[in-house]
Amino acid sequence: MSQQGYVATPPYSQSQPGIGGFSAGFGPPNSSVHYGHYGDPSSSYSAPQPGVSKSTVPFGSSAPVGPPPPGAHQFSQTNFQNGPSTPGQQPHRFQGPPPPSNTGPSYPHFSHQSQPAYPNTASTSPTAQVANQLNSMQINSYGPGTTPSSRVSSGHPSSFQGPQLPPPTQQQIALPPGSQVPPPANSVNGLCAQPSLPPMARQDGISGPVPPNPNLQQLSGQPPGPGYHPQQANYGPQMAGSQLSYPGAFPGGPAQLTGPQQKKLDPDSIPSPIQVIENDKASRGGQIYATNTRGQIPPLVTTDSVIQDQGHASPRYIRCTAYCFPSSSDMAKQARIPLAAVIQPFAIVPPNEAPLFVVNHGENGPIRCNRCKAYMCPFMLFIEGGRRYQCGFCNCINDVPPFFFQHLDHIGRRVDHYERPELSLGSYEYVATLDYCRNNKPPKPPAYIFMIDVSYRNINSGLVKLICDELKTLLDKLPREEQEESSAIRVGFVTYNKVLHFFNVKSSLAQPQMMVVSDVGEVFVPLLDGFLVNFQESRSVVINLLDQIPEMFADTNESETIFAPVIQAGMEALKAAECAGKLFIFHSSLPTAEAPGKLRNRDDKKLLNTEKEKTLFQPQVNSYEALARDCVANGCCVNLFLFPNQYMDVASMGLVTMYTGGTLYKYNNFQLDADSPQFLSDLRNNIEKKTGFDAIMRVRTSTGFRATDFFGAVYMNNTTDVEMAAVDCDKAVTVEFKHDDKLNEDSGALIQCAVLYTSISGQRRLRIHNIGLNCSSQLADVYKTCETDALINFFAKSAFKAILSQPLKTVREILVNQTAHMLACYRKNCASPSAVSQLILPDAMKVLPVYMNCLLKSCVLVGRPEIPTDERAYQRQLVMSMGVADTQLFFYPQLLPIHSLDLKSDTIPAAVRCSEERLSDGGAFLLANGLSMFLWLGVSAPPDLIQGLFNVPSFAHISTEATSLPDLDNPFSKKVKSILEHIQSQKPYTMKLIIVKQREQTEMLFRQFLVEDKSIYGGASYVDFLCCVHKEICQLLS
Ligand SMILES: [Zn+2]
Repeated sequence: MSQQGYVATPPYSQSQPGIGGFSAGFGPPNSSVHYGHYGDPSSSYSAPQPGVSKSTVPFGSSAPVGPPPPGAHQFSQTNFQNGPSTPGQQPHRFQGPPPPSNTGPSYPHFSHQSQPAYPNTASTSPTAQVANQLNSMQINSYGPGTTPSSRVSSGHPSSFQGPQLPPPTQQQIALPPGSQVPPPANSVNGLCAQPSLPPMARQDGISGPVPPNPNLQQLSGQPPGPGYHPQQANYGPQMAGSQLSYPGAFPGGPAQLTGPQQKKLDPDSIPSPIQVIENDKASRGGQIYATNTRGQIPPLVTTDSVIQDQGHASPRYIRCTAYCFPSSSDMAKQARIPLAAVIQPFAIVPPNEAPLFVVNHGENGPIRCNRCKAYMCPFMLFIEGGRRYQCGFCNCINDVPPFFFQHLDHIGRRVDHYERPELSLGSYEYVATLDYCRNNKPPKPPAYIFMIDVSYRNINSGLVKLICDELKTLLDKLPREEQEESSAIRVGFVTYNKVLHFFNVKSSLAQPQMMVVSDVGEVFVPLLDGFLVNFQESRSVVINLLDQIPEMFADTNESETIFAPVIQAGMEALKAAECAGKLFIFHSSLPTAEAPGKLRNRDDKKLLNTEKEKTLFQPQVNSYEALARDCVANGCCVNLFLFPNQYMDVASMGLVTMYTGGTLYKYNNFQLDADSPQFLSDLRNNIEKKTGFDAIMRVRTSTGFRATDFFGAVYMNNTTDVEMAAVDCDKAVTVEFKHDDKLNEDSGALIQCAVLYTSISGQRRLRIHNIGLNCSSQLADVYKTCETDALINFFAKSAFKAILSQPLKTVREILVNQTAHMLACYRKNCASPSAVSQLILPDAMKVLPVYMNCLLKSCVLVGRPEIPTDERAYQRQLVMSMGVADTQLFFYPQLLPIHSLDLKSDTIPAAVRCSEERLSDGGAFLLANGLSMFLWLGVSAPPDLIQGLFNVPSFAHISTEATSLPDLDNPFSKKVKSILEHIQSQKPYTMKLIIVKQREQTEMLFRQFLVEDKSIYGGASYVDFLCCVHKEICQLLS
């Protein structure tokens, strides 16, 4: 075995058993947890050595060599097709040799014309109902002075700066350097105060909202503004010490006002997220994207295309912050672009794309590199006539096992290349052998345990009856393998208040039996036989039980509840049954009963904006961490449905859910009539979700870099193994990489993600995703391949993790600093020379500032007394497990004008930018961010529109109590409803529809989502933030 070329660095230098050694563990933890960029803000940037930075910067030397530009990819290399992609194809079989070489014709062509633009999603319920969220948001507290019509920028003269359409690779906007920071506007503290423009950069005003203006080219030749000192560029060494005016301005920081008059940038002159989304849709939408080239940039996550696996994992499974990594660690430090992959290993693929093939080598098991334990994949190079292969990850030469031997063809490729998914596909599955099972025993099918809080409030509100009634039909919809007639998943039932009640629902019983466990300090499971049953076999007993439960506790006056013992009981039950599974817990109050995990109300608004604010996001007792660890160790995933009417300490109660890969749901002030549809839809979706159980993920890389940090609904026992009691289709893990050596530009940067899990039928499997990225010693190549949506996903998760240990102010400062730094590095090293008064953004990052500002303004990072602590903890937890599509929508909501729908077209109208000035009195707009959905109606909305949607004669007649639109027999209503369904169908959470009338009180809630405007909670407007970032960049460059 040759070991040449292998550069061993911890933790890969240890020959650990890897996933294959599941039962034996994964080796000891060998380093402490990293906190990414947030370890220490002052040291997080490793400044280049003084005097060295110039010479290491490839100034202006970048001859672009990276991957093909978007749009110029995929179809030139035709000759392979991996398996059929026809809908309805038998999914889990690799269909022998491929048809003769061609790519296009054999795939169903995807187009908006060939299928309904809004798939009929029977599985999603009509969207939701009006919220009591209003109460929880306490919108009353904003006082009478705030009127929704106060448009921030319309009263000011606007100054057009910079071109609307960027040159091919970068966006240039002329902004004043060194702008002075005026005081924050009156009572609303801007995160970023509005800068003044120096006289020479000012244009005479264009007032009011301005339409997009194409005549904006004149500023590219602007003379440098004051403060431009090109000779003093000393970028590197001064970086770390640069002062940030941005965070200091929050709240109410010191300010200097100079300059006679404030002028504003026109919003149409700065990069528009909508333009970027629409341009990508226009150039790549509806096309086939074949993953046949290393380092190619996929379509944006907002663009619909048909993905064809030709050797690299689909972007549905893996998206990266950059598709070309810097070749050295010095370069990476210089640019400070996070190198990360967002991995959604169980992502749903649409029916017109091929499902994963399953490879079964029988008792031989998966083929793995002897040294690094990477699985056989397209990155392995066969040599010596096919008798050996060189591992693409560690370069080790391995013997090909005899059963796997095959000859090579004239170009050195195995003749069975296209017949084996593991040789030709980016993603596939292996059937695992007993070595990969707990205790070397085949796993049992998973179980679902339903655990219902039957305290007074839940009984009284009708929630318990609602749940029981729903379960009677839901249990017929438990997930099953496609070839199986019924689900293998077993079910069990527990109710609780201060004590636990287990139910025996064995099929032979005439009546269910209840067993009470009142010793909640040391929970045990009172029965094994008859607790977990097959629903089909025990149907009559289970139905009987579900009928009886609401009656059984109808007279309860018990209001205290336990919580940790409930999770403990469910976990012990799964453990006793030797299976993995999910708990579904329905809970309504702070668990104050005397028991482990007892919580007190520790909410304290006085902690906001103090060093101690972070404690609000930490669990208040340690026992939940230990419980989470036990749950993960036993494959127990906790799904939690919370129904709070006051503080419930989501940070503590949600912790086990977070660590076990479960999903957290929260329904504030749950009202049966108004909120049932949303809750039941969420419950149904969760029960039916594709899920992998008892999962463990390992990310391997080629030499020169490695995974250093993991963000998600995961548990880490050591630094390499990502444990998940369960992982479902919506959960994504964001993995950060760091260099430990130079990367080889020829061989690129290769990543293999392997998830070992138990399927819904109880089969132990490995799901493998492979992706290859390019490497370059030219910074320009790196900037060209960045993906802003993935960057924001990374920044959001790393920031939301960091707030557990650092003051929020520090975290916000780091985000701003890093944004400026990334852009300054581009400006210095990649952009063509120009006046410093121009803000120059790399094309791939031109909407980074607006998205970053949205993240900075999120209620998680900005504490305000009006925002409930639980809401912040809840949103924090949700974002931690989101994939790229979900974070994109969450931070930059979709705002659709529906007053101008083209009823003849199947397409969804193009969104508009999230700013009040895009609204119109005569319009109607739909806004969605994945958690909330609003229908906003202007005061002058045409009566026929109102009649068509609501069946009432005028604006005044519209009831904002409604939680859904009525079913009306007219094309306009049908179209709007189909758009609602379409938006909902792609999201893991059911959104409640809130109807908002312009100038009424609920509009305050809606306005929070107009993320380009100055926030009522104090966040900067996009324009102001951009000016602020520009100022930072100028400081870095001077
Ligand atoms: Zn290897």
